[in-house]
Amino acid sequence: MTLTKLLSCFRCSVIEVFVKYLIVYPKENPLGKRLLTAILLCSTSLAFMATSFQLLVDYRSDVSGIELRMHEIERSYLASMGESLWNMDSKQIQIQLNGIANLPDIPFAQVKDIQGQVLARAGSSSSQFKTFNRTIPIQFIADPVSRKTIFLGTLEVSATMDRIYKRLWDKAFVIFVSQTAKTLLVAIFILVTFNYLVTRHLVTMAAYVRKLNLSQLSVPLVLSRKAPPQTDELDVMVLAFNDMTEAIKRDVSELTEYRTELEELVIKRTTELAQKISELEENEERYRKLVEISPDAIIVEREGKIIFVNSGALKLIGADRPEQLTGMSMIELIPSDWHEIAQDHLEKLLANEKELRPFEAKMMRFDDTVIDVEISRSFFHDRGLLAIQTVAHDITKHKHYEAQLRTQALHDALTGLPNRILLMDRLEHAIALAERGNYAVFVLFFDLDRFKYVNDTLGHDAGDQLLKIITKRVLQCIRKSDTFARLGGDEFVLVLGNIASEDLVNQLLSRVVSAINESIIIEGQNITMTSSIGISTYPKDGKDSATLLKYADTAMYRAKELGRNGIQHYSPEMLTHTSEYMAMESRLRQALENKEFVLYYQPILDLRSGKIIGAEALIRWQHPEFGLLPPARFIPVAEETGLIVNIGEWVMHAACVQAKIWEKAGLMPIRIAINLSAQQLFSPYFEDKVKQVFVDTGLSPHSIEFEITETMSMKDPEHVVGLLQRLKAIGAHIAIDDFGTGYSNFGYLTRFSIDHLKLDRSFVQNIKNNLNDAVLASSMIGLAHNLGLSVVAEGVEDKEQLTDLVAYGCDEMQGYYFSPPVPPEAFAEFLKGNKSLDLSLKG
Ligand code: C2E
Ligand code: CA
Ligand code: CA
Repeated sequence: MTLTKLLSCFRCSVIEVFVKYLIVYPKENPLGKRLLTAILLCSTSLAFMATSFQLLVDYRSDVSGIELRMHEIERSYLASMGESLWNMDSKQIQIQLNGIANLPDIPFAQVKDIQGQVLARAGSSSSQFKTFNRTIPIQFIADPVSRKTIFLGTLEVSATMDRIYKRLWDKAFVIFVSQTAKTLLVAIFILVTFNYLVTRHLVTMAAYVRKLNLSQLSVPLVLSRKAPPQTDELDVMVLAFNDMTEAIKRDVSELTEYRTELEELVIKRTTELAQKISELEENEERYRKLVEISPDAIIVEREGKIIFVNSGALKLIGADRPEQLTGMSMIELIPSDWHEIAQDHLEKLLANEKELRPFEAKMMRFDDTVIDVEISRSFFHDRGLLAIQTVAHDITKHKHYEAQLRTQALHDALTGLPNRILLMDRLEHAIALAERGNYAVFVLFFDLDRFKYVNDTLGHDAGDQLLKIITKRVLQCIRKSDTFARLGGDEFVLVLGNIASEDLVNQLLSRVVSAINESIIIEGQNITMTSSIGISTYPKDGKDSATLLKYADTAMYRAKELGRNGIQHYSPEMLTHTSEYMAMESRLRQALENKEFVLYYQPILDLRSGKIIGAEALIRWQHPEFGLLPPARFIPVAEETGLIVNIGEWVMHAACVQAKIWEKAGLMPIRIAINLSAQQLFSPYFEDKVKQVFVDTGLSPHSIEFEITETMSMKDPEHVVGLLQRLKAIGAHIAIDDFGTGYSNFGYLTRFSIDHLKLDRSFVQNIKNNLNDAVLASSMIGLAHNLGLSVVAEGVEDKEQLTDLVAYGCDEMQGYYFSPPVPPEAFAEFLKGNKSLDLSLKG
């Protein structure tokens, strides 16, 4: 029972295995199928060849067996057959034939007589397959001695292959079946083994590879099998796989690192960019606001059409809305006679000319009035197009003041005569003409004798009247082309140009002298004036205006020395060989060595707070014989001899030392103003000396202000512009001294780096009694403010002057009203006592 069950089970599993490995497995595993086919083909053909060979051999031996049987029949039956036939014993023949036909593979035998008649037969000759027939002669040995034989008939035997073929078929069948079964079993065995050893691992590998992703790279491929004793192909595969994943892992981690870096970089760049953009936006916003609130007119053109104007521009041009201007071109706003200048400037701008300065031009307003403007332009690229920004600044007022200043600043207010500036201009002009025409020019320096006496006894008004009368008389006796100028006080200069002979000079001179000497009645007094006259000549005495004027002055002094009311022609000895001059020069040198110079300090006050905010250092000479000498007594000689440079250095050093002392005493910060002479300013060592002084004294340059005059700076403006910039760069301040007595060129002033304008004493003095000077003073203050400079009024002597200056908006003052220059100790007392200016001016 159990056995049959077991058997059926076994059959079942065998069938299963067959189905699995011969039908299903090959379908799912093409590799197995091919292997199976190869095994089957190969094994079948081998089996076929072996079987065929075996069958061939069997067939051969069977065939030879038949042959052998024929021989046996011949050997054993033929003798007895012959005897039976001799004896005609047909019964015996039949028996013998039956015996033959009973032999295996012999189905039929018959005996024929000599005539061929069948005597007897046994078996049947019907055969499926081939038959072999043998005809054997039957003989009878008649005489055994002579072996004489008698032929009796024939025995015919048929042999058949039926049995042999059948056996061969059976055998072939058995072989085929057993071979097939064996082959199948072997194939299955191979497949199972192949599956166990290879295929399932291939499947594992495939699954592994299919599952493989970046996160799983660190899980290595492992096959579920016992490690083979020797590394096999699968191991090599696994190793190759794991090497590959390892390499991928490495690459991936490198890539990841790179990616992180890239990401960080991108984040960094993005933040930077965002920041830049926001900064740009902020800047743009700030710029926009600036542009909007700028009092200057700002106009932007692109491709020759206005695309933007600020409110300043609307105001300047008198438009209400920007649309009135947009679409127009800038040139339409400029009168045609200024087009060339504007175009020229634009070309220079586009050619990137360095240090292109703003230019002055005119602009037309919407109400058809024309205004003066200063235009500066710049260009940039806006969306790939050339855009030009014009900044226009209304300088109409400025121009007006300047023109006013020019005429007024060139003439003496009292007499209307040219002043020193115009005189120098005319003199230069006369020299230029004379140079070309080979003429001479005469400079006559007049100084009225004892004018001070008239002033003191009869009063200033009488003095002024006297000057006016003399002026009028002199003008009547000179030619139109001659220049008669007043230098100040009682000093006049007559320039005679275009002179062919000296006779003419003498004629003119005697007329002028008698005009001066003619008696004058003032306030009931009969006055006779005399004058001392010095004369210098171009080209004999000098080639330039300054020299000629100086020499005429020197000659005039000589005339005075020689007892007044005389005329002196300049000669070189006058300058250097006057006893006074020579004595002075050597004394000045000694004074420097003997430390006879001292500095006095005059307070400078702020007009808003009334507090002391600075001091001007003014030199004095403590002369052992003559006492304290003012600069007017020795500075001109110092200038003449060049000693001023050394004296100036001493002043600079002494002022800085003093400032440092006050700083240490806690009395600073105030600024100390130091006067510079032209020779210092143009000395090549000047800058080094300045720096050295600050190093030596340890004082900050911020505490120092250098005072220079306009006249000095005009000698070489380019040099001075640079020098002042460098002085400012180290922190020092700059003031223009005696402003209003020189060129009063505001245009130039803008190029200098200046902090303060010091309004000359002469303006301040006349504020209250000369309307002209009052207007001038106030307009100069206004203009200075326009340029961002603050104004110091010099020589303020009384309350009225102060009141007016405050009303004009003046920033600072300096003058006897508060204090004359005082020794340093006295100045320190001011600072300690907080002495200040009383600004409660009404009352
Ligand atoms: P400044 O630079 O114009 O100096 C101002 C002058 O005006 C001083 O004369 C001062 O005493 C005087 N002053 C001040 N307040 C009044 C006032 O209310 N009324 C009047 N009538 N005068 C007043 P000071 O000290 O005689 O100096 C004369 C000139 O000498 C100075 O003119 C300056 O050009 C020159 N100077 C003085 N010290 C130096 C120096 O250290 N170096 C150089 N190179 N020049 C100097
Ligand atoms: Ca000064
Ligand atoms: Ca001055």
